[in-house]
Amino acid sequence: MNLLDGKLAAEAVKEELKLQVAERAAAGKKIPHLAAVLVGNNGASATYVAAKVKACEQTGFISTLIRLEDTVTKHKLLETIRALNEDIDVDGILVQLPLPKHIPEQEVIDAIDPQKDVDGFHPVNVGKMVQGAESFVPATPLGIMLLLSHYKIDTAGLKAVVIGRSNIVGRPMSILLSANTNPGNCTVTLCHSKTKNLAEHCQQADIIVAALGQPLFLKADMVKEGAIVIDVGITRVEDATRKSGFRLLGDVDYEAVASTCSWITPVPGGVGPMTIAALMKNTFLACSRK
Ligand code: NAP
Repeated sequence: MNLLDGKLAAEAVKEELKLQVAERAAAGKKIPHLAAVLVGNNGASATYVAAKVKACEQTGFISTLIRLEDTVTKHKLLETIRALNEDIDVDGILVQLPLPKHIPEQEVIDAIDPQKDVDGFHPVNVGKMVQGAESFVPATPLGIMLLLSHYKIDTAGLKAVVIGRSNIVGRPMSILLSANTNPGNCTVTLCHSKTKNLAEHCQQADIIVAALGQPLFLKADMVKEGAIVIDVGITRVEDATRKSGFRLLGDVDYEAVASTCSWITPVPGGVGPMTIAALMKNTFLACSRK
C-alpha cells in the first residue's frame, strides 16, 4: 500500500504558488486577493475558513475575512457579495457553505461574479467544466486531480466509482475523471443512496472516490486488490480523549481497507489539504487572468 499524502502534495502546490506570487510581486504585478465570507458560528466552517486564511498567508496572498451573524438577511449577504464583485482588488470570492437555512444557497452562488467564483460552483463555471473549457473547478475534486498528478498516477482506461453525487464533490469528480485529460480518461460509475448493488460496483472498480459523509462506510470486502482509494469524507465524532472533544472519521474503513489498496488517502491529511491547495490555485488563476 502507498500513501497519497495530501499534506505533502499540498505543500508542494503552495510552495510553487508562493514562488509565482513572489515573481509577480517582483515584476510589480498584482498579488492574489481572496475574500472569504463566513456566516454564523459553525465550528467546522470556522475551522475550514481559518485554514484557508492561513494558506493565503503561507503563499503570500492577501486575504479578507468577512464574518456575518447567522441571523443575517439574504439581502445583506447579497449586498456583501455585490460589493466584493465590484471591488477591483478582490480576485476570488468564497462563501463558506453550508449557509443558515433561511438563505437559499444557489441564489447566493449565482450572485458571485463567475470571474471571481474560485469555488467553481457558479453555473457558468459548472457548464464550462462539463464542456472541458477553462474554468474554476470545485476545489475538492480539483484537489483530488492534483493529488493524482502529484503521484503521477495514470488513470487512463481505469474503471472509477464515485460514491456521492453532490454538486460540490461527487458530480464534478465524476465529470473530471471521465474527461479526456490526464489524470482522467476513466470509465465512471456515479453511485448514490438509491444505487442498487453498490458493493458490486465498488468491487469492480480500479479507483474509488468515497464522498458520501458516512463514516467508515467503505469496507475491505468492497475493494478489489490493488485499487486506488480516495477518501473525501470528514465527519466529526465525539472523542472525550481528545482535547478538542472530537476526532475526524473518513468514509473509508482505513485500517481494514489499506492493506488491499495500491494507493489510499488518509483522513485527516489526504483530500482536506488538497482542497485548500486547489482553492489557492484557483485564486491565483483568477488574479493572473486579469
Ligand atoms: P452531501 O451533499 O451530503 O452528499 C452526499 C452524497 O452521498 C449524496 O449524493 C447521497 O446520495 C450520497 N449518499 C449518502 N449516503 C449514501 C449511502 N449510504 N450509499 C450511497 N450514497 C450515499 O455531501 P458532500 O458535501 O458531497 O460531502 C461528502 C463528504 O465529504 C462529507 O463527509 C463532507 O464533510 C466531506 N467533504 C470533505 C471535503 C474535504 O475537503 N475533504 C470537502 C467537501 C466535503 P443522494 O444524492 O441519493 O442523497
